[in-house]
Parts: sequence; structure tokens; C-alpha cells
Amino acid sequence: MSIESVKMEGVAKKYVVMSGKGGVGKSTVAVNLAASLALKGKRVGLLDVDIHGPSVPTMLGLAGAKMMSDGEKMVPVEMDSIGGLKVISIGFMLQAEDAPVIWRGPMKNGVIRQFLEDVDWGELDALIVDCPPGTGDEPLSVIQLIGNADGAIIVTTPQEVAAVDVSKSINFCSQLGLPIAGIVENMAGFVCPHCKEITYVFKEGGGKRLAAKYKVPFLGSIPLDPAIGASGDEGRPFVTQFTNSPISEIYDTIARSLA
Ligand code: ADP
Repeated sequence: MSIESVKMEGVAKKYVVMSGKGGVGKSTVAVNLAASLALKGKRVGLLDVDIHGPSVPTMLGLAGAKMMSDGEKMVPVEMDSIGGLKVISIGFMLQAEDAPVIWRGPMKNGVIRQFLEDVDWGELDALIVDCPPGTGDEPLSVIQLIGNADGAIIVTTPQEVAAVDVSKSINFCSQLGLPIAGIVENMAGFVCPHCKEITYVFKEGGGKRLAAKYKVPFLGSIPLDPAIGASGDEGRPFVTQFTNSPISEIYDTIARSLA
């Protein structure tokens, strides 16, 4: 069934962040990429359509924030602390953080349409959409409703078992006509905070091999770092706290390649 796409004339570039499975750091990458672009002076929107498990509000310190409206349109939460980053999350609509969302596909499609069409995003250089893992209703709705998204950013971990999930995500995008902006490998080598030696907990170079195998761009490799986990829990994105760190530079490189 084809879905009519929405008009988003003020938004220059639209990227969809996806992963084959949960827990690989997809939301972490979406949040830090959006923050990295916003800190560079870009006008950025971050849309969290992870309807059953929105983690963007927590990762940005916006837990408890509620959806606002100007009477006509919904208004994104604007974060002055992160270069005016505009954020919308399904989490802003929930009565309580632990309230489950029990919706079927058409309801999800309806709310995602509203988030794209009935939100006053204003003029944006980039909109980053954080999708739930897999190839279900939400990424399908996002890709069809946007219609002309600039690319999918596929987040994966370096293990060989991730290859099957990555190939599913890539095939999903190609069937829907969405180009692949590239693969981000997350949770690569662990840098020992004491001796600085890198331990490849999974496998070295897995992300690059996956990108080569599927002939898509390799955007970058982000190590495992306890400070990344802590910054997500604290609600202050890593790239805003450790601006000159090697990991923030990796995000910077990825952000530049998109911008
Ligand atoms: P997903 O969106 O794929 O389900 P999340 O972004 O929610 O994954 O990340 C899962 C957990 O892993 C979070 O607690 C997050 O802070 C942590 N995490 C993500 N990337 C890293 C990393 N590179 N190093 C350490 N912890 C990470």
C-alpha cells in the first residue's frame, strides 16, 4: 500500500537512523550526531519515533517534558544548551515514563504523520529521525511519509552476526528507494582508561567489512566508552560534554560527511 508523502519544504536534509536490532546504540548515535551538527551552527531537528521505547528524552535530559502547541501546530522542545536543537519524541505524549504504548500499525502511522506534518519544524538544515530497531511499521511509515529522505544511517556493532541484520536493513531501504548514507559501527574497541590499550571486545574492522560487503559508505567507528553510557543516563550528550575528545572528533567527521 502506498502512502502519500508529506511536504517538508523548510527541511533541507532528512536522515533516518536505523538498526537491525536493539541495544546497538542507535539512539545514542542519533542524539550525538544531531548534537554534533547543532554545535556546528546547523539548524537541526531530532525526531524520535521509537514509539515503544523512546530513549531520546532521557538522553537529552528532557524526561517529563510535554508536547506543546501554539494553537495550530505542535512545537518542538528547543534546547538552547545544544545550539537550538529542536526535539520531538513520542515520550513527550506519555502520561508517565513507564506507561506502555499499545498501538497497532495505522495508529503509529497516524502519529508519525503528525510529527512530520503538524509540527512547526521551521527552517532546518537537517532532520534526524531515530527509528526503533528492525524493519517494522515505524521505519516503513517514516520512509514513505518523508518520501524523499536523503539517506539511511545504519548503526551496527562489529560482530559477524550483525551482518544478517545489516543486510536486512539495507535490503529494506533499497526496496523503498532510500539511499544508504552509510554504516556507523558502534561499540568497537574498548579503550582501557588506565593503560589506553584497545581491546576489540567483538572483532576489529567488522563495520568496515560490512560496508565493503554491501558496497555502502562506512561513516565511522565509535569505541565502547563508559563515559558514553554515563552521558546517556545523565541526559547530557557525550559530544556536548567532551567536545575535544577523539570520540567527539569521530562524530564531527560523520556529521561533516552528512552536512
Ligand atoms: P538502541 O537505540 O540501539 O537500542 P541505545 O542508544 O539506547 O541503543 O544504547 C544502549 C545502551 O548502550 C545505552 O545505555 C547507551 O548509553 C549505551 N551505549 C551506546 N553506545 C555506547 C558506546 N559506544 N559505549 C558505551 N556505551 C554505549
